[in-house]
Amino acid sequence: MRTAAREESLHDEIARLAQALCVACARLHARGLLSGAEGNLSVRLSNGNLLITPSGVDKATMSPNSVISLNADGTLRHAAGTINDSARDTVHRPSSEVGLHVACYAARPDARAVIHAHPPVATGFATAGCPIPADVLPEVPVVIGPIALVPYARPGTPALAEAMQLFLADHEVFLLANHGVTVLGTSLSDAMLRMESVEQAARIVLVARLLGGEQRLSAAETSALFALRPSSATSVTFATTARRPYFAGVSPEGLT
Ligand SMILES: [Zn+2]
Repeated sequence: MRTAAREESLHDEIARLAQALCVACARLHARGLLSGAEGNLSVRLSNGNLLITPSGVDKATMSPNSVISLNADGTLRHAAGTINDSARDTVHRPSSEVGLHVACYAARPDARAVIHAHPPVATGFATAGCPIPADVLPEVPVVIGPIALVPYARPGTPALAEAMQLFLADHEVFLLANHGVTVLGTSLSDAMLRMESVEQAARIVLVARLLGGEQRLSAAETSALFALRPSSATSVTFATTARRPYFAGVSPEGLT
């Protein structure tokens, strides 16, 4: 009976999270952070396995039955139809960024959700080689956390996960050069809100630069804001992020 109850609980968890993935996709699509079939979202189940969005599917109209079930190592459990076997759709394949998601979960036991998207303004910063500064908006150190600027690697290849490895231990947000943005969360809603906040911060900084440039917070105030985050590693990470040179020779002032 105990085993049956646990299986029923897992089934309920899968159904709930597959539906939540669809809701998150629709919300991010409605806010312009996902376009068409772009982007991919995953969640980690309590047993360590993963649910991930399918490849090539319009995120605005995605169905829970197209959500794909994976083992913890990214190998396929079900092509689709995680909710109802009779409705299983064997057409869909998992996102091409499975390797990126698996690498994130392997490096971060605390991560329960990963979202990869192409939000236009934050991706613009990544494409220009410009970091989103940590010392302008309080939301960045307190809510978003340090933002890594990851060198370019071709999407959908193991090289992308390898490029992120250096940053995975102490970041939840990754600007992927010439590509997009990846965020981690302790839940799907945590990751979704973080993705929205990153794009919002990028918009505000861009507008500030159009108006002559942002006013920076003091180092003391920024450190105090980072100290408000639950993670104790962020103050160290802030120093690393703040001192990282702007690559591609582009300074924040280059956008003004
Ligand atoms: Zn992408």
